[in-house]
Amino acid sequence: MRGLQFYQSFQPKGCQSAVYTTAVTMAAGEQWGDIYAQAAQLNLTAVGPTPSSVGIGGYLTGGGHSAISGLYGTGSDQVLEMEVVTASGDILTVNECQNADLFWALRGVGLLSDPPFSLVLRLSLICQSSGRRLNFRCYHVHNHQDFPNHANALP
Ligand SMILES: Cc1cc2nc3c(=O)[nH]c(=O)nc-3n(C[C@H](O)[C@H](O)[C@H](O)COP(=O)(O)OP(=O)(O)OC[C@H]3O[C@@H](n4cnc5c(N)ncnc54)[C@H](O)[C@@H]3O)c2cc1C
Repeated sequence: MRGLQFYQSFQPKGCQSAVYTTAVTMAAGEQWGDIYAQAAQLNLTAVGPTPSSVGIGGYLTGGGHSAISGLYGTGSDQVLEMEVVTASGDILTVNECQNADLFWALRGVGLLSDPPFSLVLRLSLICQSSGRRLNFRCYHVHNHQDFPNHANALP
């Protein structure tokens, strides 16, 4: 499943109020390279890995370290909501307001459970502005075309 949708603010299902941040909803088949490319057209980026070929499912359920994690935290810290199918076949929306225990577990524990206890179908994530200029910090930089997206997100 592919598909990306960007938002100026995001309303998690079942929550009383919206989260006032740019966000993206991604189908589970998306890879980071496509996310960076489409986000860059909106002057946005996201906390993701450097290689463009990594998928969102394993990266975000496994925690997710990024070149910009020093500023924003891990990839899984950015997750606002997931749509998942459980081992019993139920399709659930999980966020801070409903199925919060599963929401907590899926942001980091994913790779420890094999087979996974839920499959992510769709996932919504905070986006960061990529319009800021790079001061300088010392990073281990992979020699990769996606790094400029991350570099632009640094203050
Ligand atoms: C070249 C390379 C560079 C990397 N760089 C980084 C990095 O910079 N930072 C970092 O944190 N990690 C990095 N990784 C590790 C990467 O995040 C993990 O390997 C991650 O599991 C890849 O996820 P995937 O969905 O692409 O892989 P897959 O092989 O498809 O999945 C890996 C595991 O994730 C789980 N999974 C996948 N999709 C779903 C889903 N939809 N729902 C539930 N579970 C799912 C499954 O249990 C599966 O066994 C890198 C890996 C590679 C190969």
